[in-house]
Amino acid sequence: MLMTEEWVGIDMSKKDKRFDDICHICGMPITKAQIAICTDTYAVNFVEKREGDISLTVCIECYEKIKVHYTGGMKRAMKRHKEAMKQ
Ligand SMILES: [Zn+2]
Repeated sequence: MLMTEEWVGIDMSKKDKRFDDICHICGMPITKAQIAICTDTYAVNFVEKREGDISLTVCIECYEKIKVHYTGGMKRAMKRHKEAMKQ
């Protein structure tokens, strides 16, 4: 079992044959055509203080959200932070 399956409690043995994977951001079942990013790599989990292999799959919708968050770099991120602090 990959660390991500353990972390989010996904039991891939019960997966529906209509879908190929699960988006690790929104949690929705997705087909291969809906996968924007998939990676299988080494990762450090600073929250749970452990390390190991991690497999991540991201759907097209979540990928578009990720791209928006990175647009504008740190300057844009600081502007979002400032706006969030006003609320
Ligand atoms: Zn998603």
